[in-house]
Amino acid sequence: MTTKEMLDYDRQHIWHPYTSVINPLPAYPVKRAEGVYIELEDGTRLVDGMSSWWCVVHGYNHPVLNEAVERQVRDMSHVMFGGLTHRPAVELAEKLLGMAPEGMNHVFYCDSGSVAVEVAMKMALQYWHAAGQDTKRYFVAPRRGYHGDTWNAMSVCDPVTGMHSIFRGTLPMQFFVPRPEPRYGEPCRAEDLEELRTCVKNNHTRIAAMILEPTVQGTGGMWFYSVDYLREVRRLCDEYGILLICDEIATGFGRTGRLWGVSHAGISPDIMCVGKAITGGYMSFAAVMTTNRVAVQVCSGEPGVFMHGPTFMGNPLACAVANASLDLIKGYDIPVMIGRIEAQLRKELQPLQGMPNVEDVRVLGAIGVVELKNPVDMAWIQAAFVREGVWVRPFGRLVYTMPPFVIQEKELRKLTKALVRVVSNLR
Ligand code: PMP
Repeated sequence: MTTKEMLDYDRQHIWHPYTSVINPLPAYPVKRAEGVYIELEDGTRLVDGMSSWWCVVHGYNHPVLNEAVERQVRDMSHVMFGGLTHRPAVELAEKLLGMAPEGMNHVFYCDSGSVAVEVAMKMALQYWHAAGQDTKRYFVAPRRGYHGDTWNAMSVCDPVTGMHSIFRGTLPMQFFVPRPEPRYGEPCRAEDLEELRTCVKNNHTRIAAMILEPTVQGTGGMWFYSVDYLREVRRLCDEYGILLICDEIATGFGRTGRLWGVSHAGISPDIMCVGKAITGGYMSFAAVMTTNRVAVQVCSGEPGVFMHGPTFMGNPLACAVANASLDLIKGYDIPVMIGRIEAQLRKELQPLQGMPNVEDVRVLGAIGVVELKNPVDMAWIQAAFVREGVWVRPFGRLVYTMPPFVIQEKELRKLTKALVRVVSNLR
C-alpha cells in the first residue's frame, strides 16, 4: 500500500474518534514516535503537545517501558485473573496503594478509563444494596464533567456537551449541579455550593455517590476550580451519607503539579479511578481503588461478591508496563518537573491574553488552555499546527496543550510559539 492508498482506505472504512464517515476530517499518517516527537510518513517531525490525550507522560518509545514489555512478553502476555494471580499485578497493587491518597486499600483492575468509571459506579450501587438502602441508585455530578463514553459513564458527563438528548429515554437520569465556578486559587463562597447543598439535602435518600474530576475538569471544558469546592464536597458527602467517587483518570500521576487532583485539597475519596498515564500510554488499562469500608460492605450483602470481571482483568503486559511507568513517576520530582512546565507555559502563553478572539488563557501544572470566543475550524487549525511542526488538537473553543512531562525547554517553546502564532492568525 502506498501512503495515499492507506489514507484512502482509512477514509473509506475506518471510524476515528468523534468523526463523520461521510465527511471525515483528514487523519495524518504516523510512522513512528520517539521522545516528544511524532514522525509522519513523509518524515515531518511534530513536537507532541497532547501526550496522546494525557497518557504518554514519559514520551514515546521509552527504553525503560519498552524493556518492561519485552521482558514480560517472554514470560506471558496474558492469563485469566479468575483463580490465578501473578507478580506484575501484585507489585502494581502495592505501588498504587502506596501512592494513593490515604485510606485506599483495595484495587480492581480493568481495561480502560470508561470501564473504570462503570466499575466505580457499580461499586457504589452494590455498597448501598448491601447496606439495605436500595433507594440509593442515582448519582450527582457537576455539569461540564467528562467521564467516558460507555453507558453509565456517559450518564454522568455534561448533559449538553455529552448530547444526552440523543439517548433520552434509555440513558440513566442523574442529578446535575452547576460546575464549580470559583477558579483554582480562589476561595469558594457559600452561594457557589448552594445548588449542590440543596440537591443532596433533598435527594440524599436516592443518591448513591457524587462523581467528579478533582481540581481539573478535562474534556468537558478544561476548567481549573477552587480546591475549597472539593473540601466542601467531601464534607457534604459525609454529612448526607453519599459516597465520593473521584475520577483521576486525566488528573492522576502528576499532571496538575501534584500527584493527584485531590492532593490540592488534601481530601481522600471513597472510590477512585485511575487510567491513562498509568501505563505511560503503552496500552489501555485502568484501576479502581477503594477503602476497606467500601470493599467489605460491597462483599457483605447478596450476592457476596463484586459483580464484575473482564476478560483482560489484570493483564500481565499492562501491569508490567504500569509498574515501570509508576517507578519512573516515583523517580520524578513532580512539583519541580511540572512546576517548570507550568512556569514556562504561563510566561509564553501570556501574549494571547487579551487578544480580540481570546476569551481566557489559563495554566495549571502541565496543562495550558487558550479558550477562544468562537469554535475553531478543525481542518484549518490542524493543518496550521502541523505546518508549525507541532501536534495540537483543539476541540470546540478550546485550544490546549498538555505535553509529555519529559519535554525540554526548547521543545516547549516550539509548542507555545506555534500556539501564539496559530491563534493570532486564526481565520
Ligand atoms: N474520565 C476522564 C476524566 C477522562 O478524561 C477520560 C478520557 N478522556 C475517561 C474517563 C475515559 O477514559 P477512556 O477513554 O480510557 O475510556
